Parts: sequence; structure tokens; C-alpha cells
Amino acid sequence: MKELLTFNNAIDALSYHSYCPFCAEQLLLFCGSKDYDISRSSNFLHLRSDDSKVDINLYTNKFNLELIRTMPYAELDEGFGYSKISRKSSPWDNTGYMVIGIIKECLSCCSYSHILMFHFDLTERCLKSATLNSEWMSIEKSPDVFEINNNYVTDITQYTHHNNNGDSKKYDFPIILINLINPEETLERLHKLIIFT
Ligand SMILES: [Zn+2]
Repeated sequence: MKELLTFNNAIDALSYHSYCPFCAEQLLLFCGSKDYDISRSSNFLHLRSDDSKVDINLYTNKFNLELIRTMPYAELDEGFGYSKISRKSSPWDNTGYMVIGIIKECLSCCSYSHILMFHFDLTERCLKSATLNSEWMSIEKSPDVFEINNNYVTDITQYTHHNNNGDSKKYDFPIILINLINPEETLERLHKLIIFT
């Protein structure tokens, strides 16, 4: 297995291709976990959920955490006649590790995205590392559409050809590096390989 592309800090990870290779629009950030809204300011990456505010320093990797407790509420247990207090908890509250997928996607032409995995050390309150998990692109050559999906964890490039009859053909290859300067060249390389399969 090849080494995953690993970034030492959040700013390097977020700098991995910020613009769409097809339409040159800026890629937008999304969190793979739907519980979190994500945004970026000059020095921080901000994650927001119902129960936590996390601000990751892009340069030092340290994160600030603010847990949002809803008012502790009393549940009256009528059977025993006493109240017990329940509180919300957040995964950020715990020690250990947590991994969150960060998606960068072009919403202008919807033809390119990649996913970064951020590995957090909750005990040390820092981002330990970030890796490039996968990369996806779609090329339309009317009436056909071709998708290339690189999974760097499994080391597989999946090529899918959708034709105008609604049929699709899939082929798996060992990783084929995507040419982000000339994405169509990647497709040409795959088409040459398919001739020999
Ligand atoms: Zn685009």
C-alpha cells in the first residue's frame, strides 16, 4: 500500500487544491458529519454543532473547545418522586481520538471534490494529522459521462462510464494519479488501460 498524502497542519491540508480544475471556481468546505457546520476564517477552522463550538488554529493545530450545555433539565421520576439531572454531552468532551471528514467540493460545475480526514487528539486538544482520503471527478462528453473516483485508503481508482441509455460500466484499477492541470488527460490514460482489460 502506498503512503497516504499526509499534511502536518490544517493550513497545508486545506491548501490542497483550493480551486476547481474544471471551472476554476473556489472549492467550498463541508463537514462529512452532518452534525457540524464548517467555516473558515484567516487563522481558524470553525466547527459548530448543537453541543459544541470548536475552533482549530490552522497554523498551530491546537483547538479551542466550548461545549454548549443546554440548561440542565430535571426529569421528574414520578415513581420514586425525585428529580434527576440530564446534561448534553459532546464527543469533544472525551479523551482519545476522533476522525472527521472534511469535503472540498465545487458547487459551480459539480465536477470535482476531494475528502480530507482530520485526526484529532482529544486529550492533547490538537489536530494530530490530516490525510487525503479520496478524490472524485466527473467529465461529460455528451451524451456520455465518465466518473473517476480515487480512494487513496484502498489504493483503488474506480472508473465509471455512464452512457445515454442509462447503463453504466465500472472498472477498478490500482491508483491512477489524477492530473489536476489537465483532468481530461487522466481520462485518456484510463481509456488506454481499458483497451487492455
Ligand atoms: Zn467546478
